[in-house]
Amino acid sequence: MKQVILVTGSGRGIGAATALLASRRGYAVCINYHSNAAAAERLRAQIVAEGGEAIAVQADVGVEADVLRLFSTIDEELGPLTALVNNVGVLEQQGKLADMSAERLQRVFNTNILSYFLCSREAVRRMSKARGGQGGGIVNVSSGAARHGGGNVYIDYAASKGAVDVMTLGLSKEVGPEGIRVNCVRPGIIYTEIHASGGDPDRVDKLASTVPLGRGGQPEEIAETILWLLSEQASYVSGAIIDAAGAR
Ligand code: NAP
Repeated sequence: MKQVILVTGSGRGIGAATALLASRRGYAVCINYHSNAAAAERLRAQIVAEGGEAIAVQADVGVEADVLRLFSTIDEELGPLTALVNNVGVLEQQGKLADMSAERLQRVFNTNILSYFLCSREAVRRMSKARGGQGGGIVNVSSGAARHGGGNVYIDYAASKGAVDVMTLGLSKEVGPEGIRVNCVRPGIIYTEIHASGGDPDRVDKLASTVPLGRGGQPEEIAETILWLLSEQASYVSGAIIDAAGAR
């Protein structure tokens, strides 16, 4: 059976590493991005040059109309979806709750929570054996911030990841009987550009010595965990939340 995967927010960072590894494991890949078309196109070209199949689709996954367009593009261009990685995630300038605007909170929650619900809904509608689908896998990308709470820097981001953890537990119970496994990965501090959007581009190096393994992580290490969770090797794993953070 053809394996088709959507990785949300995959033009750069952990999502890009996951899309590339998925292609190398035999998936036809939908790369999704928000505004950096050049990065997404570079990744798509790399996958195709390696002999893989990939499309790159611009969509703001926090907006329902965009999500519907994204999924119908996959239906038409790649075929039935078998795997979804809810990877998209944003954080904003570091600060305290007292200084956070409603607009900021709405942006973070729409991108980090609403998109996970909307994309999972569309995936379940397609994968569920109760709806004529073939089953499949969903992996949610949370964060170690869900454990420490993000106080003084970004409790909105941390709380959004707490929601992702809880959604993983609930959805795994809901759709397990329909042939869909749902799992979650909580990365620690990983070398990507997300830290620059919080105003702290050197955050990984600053915090590396606090990690028991003594270093920050690479996006490829998170991608390996995600692809394992989607694989047959993890066939009895569902509802799991795996910390990939150099120890807890
Ligand atoms: P990143 O390097 O900042 O990349 C974010 C990607 O998401 C980009 O491709 C961006 O698109 C896309 N994106 C942003 N908003 C979007 C939207 N509304 N719709 C569609 N795509 C959107 O992020 P990352 O560090 O790889 O993070 C990936 C995931 O890992 C996130 O869920 C994050 O919370 C989580 N995580 C990261 C770390 C870390 O240390 N890096 C730690 C724990 C958890 P454009 O390229 O078009 O801008």
